[in-house]
Amino acid sequence: MIPVMRPLLGEEEALAAAEAVRSGWVAQGPRVRQFEEAFAASVGAGHGVAVSSCTTGLHLAVHLLGVGPGDEVVVPSLSFIATANAVRYTGATPVFADVDAKTGNLTASTVEPVLTARTRAVMVVHQAGVPADVDALKALCEPRGISVIEDAACAAGSTYKGKPVGTNALLAAWSFHPRKLLTTGEGGMVTTDDADWAVRLKRLREHGMSVSAADRHNGGAAVIEQYLETAFNYRMTDIQAAVGLVQLSKLDAIIARRRELAARYHELLAQIDVDSASPITAVRDPEYGTTNYQSFWVWLPEGAPDRQEVLAGLAERGVSARRGIMASHLEPAYEGHPSAPLPVTEAFTARTLILPLFHDMTAHDQDTVVSALSATLHAPHLTLRG
Ligand SMILES: *Cc1c(COP(=O)(O)O)cnc(C)c1O
Repeated sequence: MIPVMRPLLGEEEALAAAEAVRSGWVAQGPRVRQFEEAFAASVGAGHGVAVSSCTTGLHLAVHLLGVGPGDEVVVPSLSFIATANAVRYTGATPVFADVDAKTGNLTASTVEPVLTARTRAVMVVHQAGVPADVDALKALCEPRGISVIEDAACAAGSTYKGKPVGTNALLAAWSFHPRKLLTTGEGGMVTTDDADWAVRLKRLREHGMSVSAADRHNGGAAVIEQYLETAFNYRMTDIQAAVGLVQLSKLDAIIARRRELAARYHELLAQIDVDSASPITAVRDPEYGTTNYQSFWVWLPEGAPDRQEVLAGLAERGVSARRGIMASHLEPAYEGHPSAPLPVTEAFTARTLILPLFHDMTAHDQDTVVSALSATLHAPHLTLRG
């Protein structure tokens, strides 16, 4: 079975983790600090605050802004459900906005209609690594006193207007789950240029402590910490950070390989014989930036079999594809949650699927995927189940 994703993990990561274990310091410590500095530099941000996941990072970002009950935060429904959940954790209300069909992202024109007097922030997602047009959103939001938070879970190494996604971000949250390009098993990061915010975020991830446990340990003289506010335990471990540092050194190579494979996918998919009026469209760079191709989504052509049938057909032919990006408002957890109509989101989630793309993928693997897709689209009766 060709998997949809396989993390690029080698002996170097195993050794780095072992070294952290042997050092005797396994909780948040010197390796976390080093990883924060290296990661923030790589995405063009002034400060990095490592956390246990992107989900907890997003929660801290919303909490930091003082957003809570009675407030609204605009999010795309077309995202992993953690985007909307992070707003709910604060007691605020996530307000779903529709997305652009070409990028899968919020735009100023999809967000504008859902802004209200209660809107405190917009959480824009660089979905599947495709950069969103953040400047246009800031131009809409900043004059109204609305903050723009970036869910950059998938976007390490993507670029926007020639700079890494994350450059000039007010607050951006990143994921190191194995489904993303860099992994620490679980893990995340919040980046910001604001030094005071970075200090507060570090406190918020560590129980509201005035002095971090690592600094107390290294301080020599007995330091008694204070708990300045009610906060969280969202720390990353030094074992994870050790792995993250090695992973980060591979980021450029990972992206280069993904872009090479994506270019080949574009060529192969163009050869599948479908009605020329409705070609298979696949994710591409927007005009203002580049994607890291965290996920390679394709939009099925008109007249194609149902997406579930296509996935089953691919599975029968040895290809593990996935449904496209989920729509949070269609999940039971959001049943009854009021929302404006989201026609593009609903079409996007129903008509897209994600093809395998991973660093060690071979040309032969890719040929197998594309012939499986072609066969499935042309012989739907062979793939029906039940
Ligand atoms: C994966 C993902 C998250 C959650 O990341 P975790 O590190 O698993 O918490 C949040 N938002 C988006 C858009 C994601 O793709």
